Amino acid sequence: MKTAIIGGGAAGFFLAVNLKEMCPEMAVTIFERGKRVLTKVEVSGGGRCNCTNTFQEVRDLQTVYPRGHRLMKRLMKGFSQDDAFRWFESHGVRLTVQDDQCVFPLSQDSHTIINCLTGEARRHGVEVRTETKIATLNELESYDFIAVTTGGSPQLQGLQWLADLGHEIEPPVPSLFTLRIDDEALQALMGTVVNNVIAMIPGTKMRAEGPLLITHWGMSGPAILKLSSYGARYLAEHNYQSAIAVNWTNRRDAEVMSELQQIVSHQRQKLLHTVAPCGLPSRLWTYLLKKCLGERSNGRWGDVNGKELNRLANLLSGGDIYQTAGRAPFKDEFVTCGGVSLQAIDPSTLESRHVPHLYFAGEVLDIDGITGGFNFQAAWTTAYTVAQSIALTNERNC
Ligand SMILES: Cc1cc2nc3c(=O)[nH]c(=O)nc-3n(C[C@H](O)[C@H](O)[C@H](O)COP(=O)(O)OP(=O)(O)OC[C@H]3O[C@@H](n4cnc5c(N)ncnc54)[C@H](O)[C@@H]3O)c2cc1C
Repeated sequence: MKTAIIGGGAAGFFLAVNLKEMCPEMAVTIFERGKRVLTKVEVSGGGRCNCTNTFQEVRDLQTVYPRGHRLMKRLMKGFSQDDAFRWFESHGVRLTVQDDQCVFPLSQDSHTIINCLTGEARRHGVEVRTETKIATLNELESYDFIAVTTGGSPQLQGLQWLADLGHEIEPPVPSLFTLRIDDEALQALMGTVVNNVIAMIPGTKMRAEGPLLITHWGMSGPAILKLSSYGARYLAEHNYQSAIAVNWTNRRDAEVMSELQQIVSHQRQKLLHTVAPCGLPSRLWTYLLKKCLGERSNGRWGDVNGKELNRLANLLSGGDIYQTAGRAPFKDEFVTCGGVSLQAIDPSTLESRHVPHLYFAGEVLDIDGITGGFNFQAAWTTAYTVAQSIALTNERNC
């Protein structure tokens, strides 16, 4: 029996190695259109490869998989983050868990993961054909099983051949990007980090918490990346021109008001800009103060009237709204939202509902996660599932 795997990325290699472990007699070939394999693994996590997450801080999978959380919940019963952790360690990769629960190779080098996957593939006799783009299944007629692990396709066109086979497609749009905000005064604060903000899209339920970094083009950092993931489709539909509200303090209006009143009571003589409330970075505080009070921002705490205090409390607790001018050039992770619809596949085996013995794994599916190792975990889980499905079908047929 022969299996063809289209795509030499994380999902393709993980599938190939696991399939050979389950079915040593299976001939497995990976077809990769590029000159090199596993190129995204190489650049991932800033060259360190955030290969999974402990999920210890994840209460609801939907918060880390905006698309595909139900399927991931089901499939992770068969191959979880703990299984992935054990798999890599038992294949010679020592892993380490960071304080934020992200898992990296102890070497802090993505080549450790690449060497593991390519080494195991070689050891099991997986054939790897690079510079071989597969554009139709006709090219693979001699194979008994075919797995598509072609990764995220930013263009709908790239998925057309799968649509032509009858598969429903969710139009691809980018996820995990930073936002351009054309506000010179804000951009002048570049390098400022606020540790725990809430970024929101007003008028929707989309909100994301975490650190925010002000950059020379606008806003970045985990809170913005997460919001771009939750709002990937919404923002695409609005041509990336949307209002974004920031709660700089991650506190309610009344709590901020109470802190402001305390300062008014105890530090009346101090100039406003010299006492930053709620632990805000002082440069950001000065900017917000000026935005809210204009010329009056040069005054003292004792000069601020009730209305002004209300305006300040509101601005610091979610009333600060920006207009995005587009997506910014990505610097960090980048994944595709959309792809082969989950309706097109059997949720237990990941086999196509339209073409027998055709399977899907990895980012080509309409599953994507936020940053933190969740996207690789989706690749390992779906690839393992497909390896198991092919192995079981093969066993039944023998
Ligand atoms: C800069 C960057 C950093 C990232 N960092 C992280 C991280 O730290 N942690 C994390 O969890 N996720 C990270 N991600 C996301 C993660 O890399 C992807 O989710 C993951 O690689 C998806 O694996 P895949 O095998 O499905 O697709 P890919 O890794 O994209 O592999 C698909 C392969 O298929 C090949 N291919 C496509 N079409 C064809 C064809 N027709 N014929 C033959 N070959 C084809 C492609 O050339 C490619 O090699 C990062 C992404 C980027 C871009």
